[in-house]
Amino acid sequence: MSNGLRAPLVECFSSIQGEGVLVGLRQVFLRLAGCNLNCSFCDTPGMSETPKECLLELTPGRRDFFKVPNPVGLERVATLLESWTEGWPGIHHSISVTGGEPLLYAKELKEWLPVLRTLLPVYLETNGTLAHQLAPLMPHLDYIGMDFKLPSTSGCVNLWDAHRAFLETASKTSVFVKIVIDQSTEDWEIERSCQMIMAVNPGIPLILQPMTLGSGAVALPALRMLELQELCSGLNEVRVIPQTHKFMGQL
Ligand code: SF4
Repeated sequence: MSNGLRAPLVECFSSIQGEGVLVGLRQVFLRLAGCNLNCSFCDTPGMSETPKECLLELTPGRRDFFKVPNPVGLERVATLLESWTEGWPGIHHSISVTGGEPLLYAKELKEWLPVLRTLLPVYLETNGTLAHQLAPLMPHLDYIGMDFKLPSTSGCVNLWDAHRAFLETASKTSVFVKIVIDQSTEDWEIERSCQMIMAVNPGIPLILQPMTLGSGAVALPALRMLELQELCSGLNEVRVIPQTHKFMGQL
């Protein structure tokens, strides 16, 4: 196995997917450090600066972490995941390559993904803004979960064109779009998002994800969730799913 390009990792652990169309499935989470955006609701660790060490879980789901220095080589990660797939065969559905924004490391992933994919299918969780970085990785991806970042909830502006270009590329495999919503979400934002998805493929699933408050409650009333879902009537599949891992005590 090549031990070439190294990548800055935050953590690698096994847990239950809490968001999107793969909700409830057991996955390996491989979290890369750093992001090209600065969303106002970001609660992901390790995004402002790369941690000196990353946390690797020894036993899947048991939180018995040990530390290794960053950046980490592919061989270290692949050896760990091989021990999981051999020791606990069949418990994981796929590897979630997440961040931060994992496509910041497209060059490294081009080397890593073909190797990791011999162990499990690969699911990319991305903010959906780096289409050029996505394109060369498409042959190595089984699922893509991409965000549309609304100006109201995320504080990020002018991402519409980037999201559109990304979705066009991502639509060549199994992709869904996730939008975080709260009380500041405006109707036009959802309508514009739906128009973009319809223009690419109305069969692409859309997940409306109510923001989770510190109290664990969702950040908008039940009626508003229904109203926003109704705005998406031109799409085939629109689900409202909160962050289920938070109330299940999962990472
Ligand atoms: S894209 Fe994700 S990781 Fe990056 S700032 Fe936004 S919420 Fe945080």
